[in-house]
Amino acid sequence: MVGHAAAVRLLQHGLTGGHLAHAYLLLGPPNIGKTTLALAFAQALLCEDETARAAGRACGVCAGCRKARDRSHPDLRVIEPEGAADEESPAIEGREGAPTTRGSGKRKAASRVQVKIETVRDLQRDLALRPYQAARRVVVITQADAMNEAAENALLKTLEEPPSYALLILAAEDTEHLLPTTVSRCQQVQLGLVPASLVIDALVERGVETSEAQRLARLSGGRIGWAINAARDPSILQRRATALDHVPRALAASRAERLTIAEELAKRPDVLPDLLAQWQGWWRDALLTQAGCDAWVMSVDQSAALRQAASRHTTANLAAALRATRQAADELERNANPRLALEVLLLSWPQAGQGIG
Ligand SMILES: [Zn+2]
Repeated sequence: MVGHAAAVRLLQHGLTGGHLAHAYLLLGPPNIGKTTLALAFAQALLCEDETARAAGRACGVCAGCRKARDRSHPDLRVIEPEGAADEESPAIEGREGAPTTRGSGKRKAASRVQVKIETVRDLQRDLALRPYQAARRVVVITQADAMNEAAENALLKTLEEPPSYALLILAAEDTEHLLPTTVSRCQQVQLGLVPASLVIDALVERGVETSEAQRLARLSGGRIGWAINAARDPSILQRRATALDHVPRALAASRAERLTIAEELAKRPDVLPDLLAQWQGWWRDALLTQAGCDAWVMSVDQSAALRQAASRHTTANLAAALRATRQAADELERNANPRLALEVLLLSWPQAGQGIG
């Protein structure tokens, strides 16, 4: 595990002291390694090497570890939302996501992906049986906040009266989209961003060149899962660049051209949550550039466009653009009309003539 020392210690403490909760809730922004941590914890629980287990880790070589790693262990069940299966590297995190502070397509209202009640019922039938090989049955739900309400209500029964051998590991961005009763039944484990130096080390360990590792660490803003995925799959970086390029393009465009851009983008509603998350990052970076906080800017590849926006527009305008972008993301989450939301948003962004003076 890279980073997340406090979270790892907390889970290890449960393992070594035997004070395991029946349910854990790993919380943190997208792509910071929640799924990786959940699976590592599951592996430690299913490891057959008692010495390793007593030390709070997995041996990594026993049959239990190997099966847990490739998810074929009969006592391990990993539940991912439907519709997320085709996304990159579920071993790292359920989806590619945007390395920005907020926004995702997985929330309930937009429900691009969902965990359905049939999945939970199926899981409960499974949990009614005692473990086959290990001392426990372990369940990992990688995006608990993608459970629809029926599924979450069904799961509550298990959280309220879990079989003695069951251990559930839920992961979610935050508690906002979970029922309070779900949250209260779980031991919460908060994960934060990983320091750049650790992201760089992790990438170099995986064979990434140092300069590229430094660049990816910067772009990732501490989302280590994103950095590792991006190192493996160049199309992630490409899509990110394309998404960000829309901002300077729209800023240079007339009102009529902005409406055309909105119309174009609205044809792909599935990518809009990520797109708007990237855009929020762009505006945040523009504000940081204007404040002279270059070291905090994530999108170093956008620096020319960011400097231009920072010099042409007032702080108030930049902040308003960030707020409007966030609001559009919220509206889309609540199923607003994509084209209308984008039109309103792009027209609200500052115009070229509306500068500092
Ligand atoms: Zn093992």
